[in-house]
Amino acid sequence: MSRKVLIIGEVRDNSLRNVTFEAISAAKSVSDGGELVGVICGENNLEPLGNEMIQYGADRAIIIQNDKLKAYSSEGYSQAIYQVIDEESPEAIIMGHTAIGKDLTPKLASRLETGLISDAIEIDVVGENVVFTRPIYSGKAFEKKIITDGIIFATIRPNNIPPLERDESRQGTVSNLDVEISDLQTVIKDIIRKTTEGIDLSEAKVVIAGGRGVKNKEGFKPLYELAEVLGGAVGASRGACDADYCDYSLQIGQTGKVVTPDLYIACGISGAIQHLAGMSNSKIIVAINKDPEANIFNVADYGIVGDLFEVVPKLIEEIKQV
Ligand code: FAD
Repeated sequence: MSRKVLIIGEVRDNSLRNVTFEAISAAKSVSDGGELVGVICGENNLEPLGNEMIQYGADRAIIIQNDKLKAYSSEGYSQAIYQVIDEESPEAIIMGHTAIGKDLTPKLASRLETGLISDAIEIDVVGENVVFTRPIYSGKAFEKKIITDGIIFATIRPNNIPPLERDESRQGTVSNLDVEISDLQTVIKDIIRKTTEGIDLSEAKVVIAGGRGVKNKEGFKPLYELAEVLGGAVGASRGACDADYCDYSLQIGQTGKVVTPDLYIACGISGAIQHLAGMSNSKIIVAINKDPEANIFNVADYGIVGDLFEVVPKLIEEIKQV
């Protein structure tokens, strides 16, 4: 049964976030051969991004350019996207399970009076049903869910569903949609970034995370070096953030970011349940810890019992020679 699927793209610093391409790939499975329609909001210059969505598999793209959409607000974006849904009547909607996705999709789902499956990591079409797999209990179990009535609406966890290969010769229409957006009750005046420059932690393929074992701010230096040679991002346990070794924007876990990189290297992290909630679904986990009894070794694929200040520099040296 083919379905028209709307993919809500996400723009940051004039570029589409990777999870947008993953959402197109997820939408392709859901569509079962139906039309894939991308939608992106922003202030201006969205046309090239609409084309990029097409190159990654969308059949066409709708762009909504309005000065009230310069910065994300659930108020402005929900009004804009709702009008697209109203015009397009999609049978399914897919978006990334990002900070924006988590904020926007429940608001839309409630207005549409439909269910919402959040944080899916796998999609299977079984007969008439689209079955979404999502982690529950902080990643200790998985549940399979279907929406039985109304629009199939889901968010997907970044870094789990591989994007389709980009085809620069792919053609499709990018159309501008004028929407009515009422005066916003809250207006974002300025955004002050706290995150470090470079690769976005929640989308990184390699994450080097430091815990209290890193000892101080200086102790994070070898971790940044290792991240650089591996093309990854640096994260942290809450222990390290609470001790002011690094910024809270790096925190991974139940009350921090959820990451699922191809490679996660935990340095001086004990493996508290709240930390595991944010990283235990990483594809390969390497733990470096002085304590052979540390809980992190229970989820690690490879464990190194040792002092991180000896192990990490050796790793950097070895990797540089490859
Ligand atoms: P520790 O538990 O102190 O572990 C440090 C580790 O470093 C030890 O295992 C030690 O053996 C090792 N070590 C020390 N020196 C070295 C060395 N030189 N070389 C190698 N290893 C060394 N935590 C999170 O991370 N994320 C969350 O989102 C989160 N949310 C929470 C929410 C709630 C409601 C609560 C109550 C707690 C939460 N926590 C969270 C905190 C969590 O319970 C732990 O306290 C925290 O994860 C511990 O951080 P840590 O592993 O860095 O520190």
